Amino acid sequence: MATEMQSDTKASARDVLSFAAERAQAYVREVAGRRVSPAEADLAALAGLHEPFPEASSDPHAVLAKLDEIGSPATVTTTGGRYFGFVNGGILPAALAANWLAGVWNQNVALRAMSPIAAELEEVVLRWVCEALRFPLDCAGGLVTCATMANFTALATARHALLARAGWNVSEDGMFGAPPIEVVVGAEAHASILKALSLAGFGRKRVTIVEADGQGRMRADKLPRLSERAIVCIQAGNVNTGAFDPAAEICARAHEQNAWVHVDGAFGLWARLSPKFDHVTRGFEMADSWATDAHKWPNVGYDSGLVLARDGGALRASMGITAAYLEPGARREPMHHTPESSRRARGVELWAALKSLGRSGLRELIERTCAHAQLFARGLRTAGFEVLNKVEINQVLASFGSPDVTREVIRRIQEDGTCWCGGTVWQGKTAMRISVSSWATTDADVERSLAAMIRVARECRAV
Ligand SMILES: *Cc1c(COP(=O)(O)O)cnc(C)c1O
Repeated sequence: MATEMQSDTKASARDVLSFAAERAQAYVREVAGRRVSPAEADLAALAGLHEPFPEASSDPHAVLAKLDEIGSPATVTTTGGRYFGFVNGGILPAALAANWLAGVWNQNVALRAMSPIAAELEEVVLRWVCEALRFPLDCAGGLVTCATMANFTALATARHALLARAGWNVSEDGMFGAPPIEVVVGAEAHASILKALSLAGFGRKRVTIVEADGQGRMRADKLPRLSERAIVCIQAGNVNTGAFDPAAEICARAHEQNAWVHVDGAFGLWARLSPKFDHVTRGFEMADSWATDAHKWPNVGYDSGLVLARDGGALRASMGITAAYLEPGARREPMHHTPESSRRARGVELWAALKSLGRSGLRELIERTCAHAQLFARGLRTAGFEVLNKVEINQVLASFGSPDVTREVIRRIQEDGTCWCGGTVWQGKTAMRISVSSWATTDADVERSLAAMIRVARECRAV
């Protein structure tokens, strides 16, 4: 028999969904006119969340109202057209709407038996991603939280494969006493690769670092002598400059020795959608494993990391679990391809995003955001400011003078609220980083943001 609370709750579940949809729609309508960073007063209001764990239950409607009242104003407007922080994309309408539907479904995609639709969509999107990126179509893959996790999964796969060749089963016998593996990374590798290496038992410091050039590209001529027990981690898209390691040359050299090449391509790999970038993206298809994010350039919501590996057997050997009630069926079982077991059905939003964009839409999104990056670079240079990187794709590094002045300009731009950019230090130089990664950015957003940057920078220089 249903309790009173259950009957009440079922009736109000419909109400609360309508209420949430109304509030969500209001938020979407307000995005264009909102400040990008939240105002001080809205941040101060977050203190209102800190109450002791409530003794009494609350009506879901009241819970949602409170969340919207305190939460919405304290968000960073990353879904609008003027957020250029980190390398964070926005969210495509189809992906957002699919997220609502997926929320209602609440599917656990660990096993096909738990959700046939979620398992099916994963198979479809993994294949589509291979098609889009021009990778071998029979790659195995998994949908993980983020690129850090994708890097970890790929490195665990590489570890398994290389040690298996040496007659060592790392899944059973662990790393202690295992034949040594040499890990090679570029000097400008993303910090998440080092974290992934530490998680996989390799150690952040126990790596051979290869010199990078002024754009952060690994120098192929500086590669050490490799062996069949080496993992070379290369990068498609440096998080600061957007530069690509020379993949064709490195893969050829590594594969002569049977070494494993892993690509951290969190955002850069998506540039393979456009032939305009072939000169930098060629060769990455030769690698053995790849990590990327659909929550960056493809504008799918968080968390949408992807791992792909040529050797599906090694991926499953390192990620599978055995338990009587979890035996793999004849079809692909999601949980045997990722570190996580129970998880949400990430493939739903990714499918919706890719289906709505199609190859032409995704290509156009990539090309448009890169053209916007060029507009920023040109605008800043014309105004007399320095652009530190060769703007090849969607990343721009700007300096406004001394480190102190540049930091102050960044602080004031964030405070101004017209747009949002973060700071970085590129090869010893303090810089503001502009990443154009959102489908929502328009030419007008670029012009308005550029005007705000130049105004603020001139004010800072004047004092
Ligand atoms: C963003 C990024 C990462 C980390 O991505 P997460 O999804 O935050 O884990 C790793 N590598 C590169 C090159 C990146 O740009």
